[in-house]
Amino acid sequence: MLDLTPKEIKARSALRINPCKTCQPVGAMYAALGVHKCMPHSHGSQGCASFHRMYLSRHFKEPAIASSSSFTEGASVFGGGSNVKTAVKNVFDIYDPDIIAIHTTCLSETIGDDLNSYIQDMDIPEGKIVVHTNTPSYAGSHINGFFNMMCGFINYLAKKTGTPNGKTAIFPGFVNPGDMRELSRLAKLMQVPFTMFPDTSGVMDAPMTGRFDMYPSGGTTIPEIIGLGDCEQVLALGAITGIEPAELLKKKFKVPYTLLPLPIGVEATDRFIMELSKISKAEVPYELEEQRGQLIDILLDSNQYTFEKTVAIYGDPDIVTGLTALCLEMGMVPKYVITGTPKEDFTKEVNALLERYGISDAVVKANADLFELHQLIKNEPVDLLLGTSYGKAIAKAENIPLIRAGFPILDRYVHSYLPLVGYSGMIRMVERITNAIMDRQDAACADEDLEAIM
Ligand code: SF4
Repeated sequence: MLDLTPKEIKARSALRINPCKTCQPVGAMYAALGVHKCMPHSHGSQGCASFHRMYLSRHFKEPAIASSSSFTEGASVFGGGSNVKTAVKNVFDIYDPDIIAIHTTCLSETIGDDLNSYIQDMDIPEGKIVVHTNTPSYAGSHINGFFNMMCGFINYLAKKTGTPNGKTAIFPGFVNPGDMRELSRLAKLMQVPFTMFPDTSGVMDAPMTGRFDMYPSGGTTIPEIIGLGDCEQVLALGAITGIEPAELLKKKFKVPYTLLPLPIGVEATDRFIMELSKISKAEVPYELEEQRGQLIDILLDSNQYTFEKTVAIYGDPDIVTGLTALCLEMGMVPKYVITGTPKEDFTKEVNALLERYGISDAVVKANADLFELHQLIKNEPVDLLLGTSYGKAIAKAENIPLIRAGFPILDRYVHSYLPLVGYSGMIRMVERITNAIMDRQDAACADEDLEAIM
């Protein structure tokens, strides 16, 4: 790898090497998998659909079902209208979903396919639904695809009857099914009736039953999405992922929303719990107080190892912001904080967070890549890397421990079942981070010193 000076790193603006993101349809497909009995449909070539499915299946270690318009040269020239109409008919005939959620791809966007008019011309069976969203992959990232698909569902399905349903809509953002389960647990403990949208728990972490279920029991149901217009309020978790669908629901149906950071770390989890308590007027149960107390105890015990350790954090914007808060609460010093998603709000949010802890010299960047992160680390190393599997090469080359968190994690198992959010998520992260730092110290110790410590 080339060694670049800080000036040269700054100068590169167009080329991306080892990007810290993937394409929009991956996010759109994941959001659609969080809807019960939904078939995500990729309007493009089979190669695109295979890539998106492979990416999700490798992270979740579960089959990510999806169909494709199967573009060939003809569709590329004359448009994909006839392909998508045939595909939708076949998918309803053969796989019998309740709803098909179509997202576009680079090719169909470039040729300008008009999905609105294609869907109007389709012969959709009675009681079945087709929705769509535009996901041009050369703009944004999988995070844009995720919230665009949420907006697609809201645009097509959500309604206001005039009779509030007493529910709170929780938009969990692009997080694992384990996180969605934990968010549901917290909302239930706080006695808040809610609709989680989307909800991949019970879909992308479905149990082994001995037979293949194309549509597992989980996912937000169609009536629940229709009912979003009648919700009392929205709690949108993660400013970057949550703002657009929350704004859309407010604009269309005047449903007010509260934008909260993803509940990663003590303060952000406290805010989520207090917001739930404000809604239900319920007291925080002892079960949560006890868990929070345990977490504080663990933070005090481990602080001697984590205090002032430097860390590079990279991945999706809302997760990275949450992990930055978590590291700060552990007494660590985030030195490089980057996301590949091109959203400048990210840098503002993270810089404001760092400022509160008196840190002014961190490199915080959106639309960055892992090549750049590696160059920064070569110039000034850190004690720990925190992010996706794609930092593995940096960790190996620079001999820095890597704690995997976020999306995608392709080379480890079980992570998607366990939460990052909530007090339990932080307890898990404190264990992993502290142990990695202690392992490194042990490795650096002479044998006789190690014996003395034991
Ligand atoms: S061609 Fe575009 S939509 Fe297809 S996989 Fe590549 S980036 Fe994604």
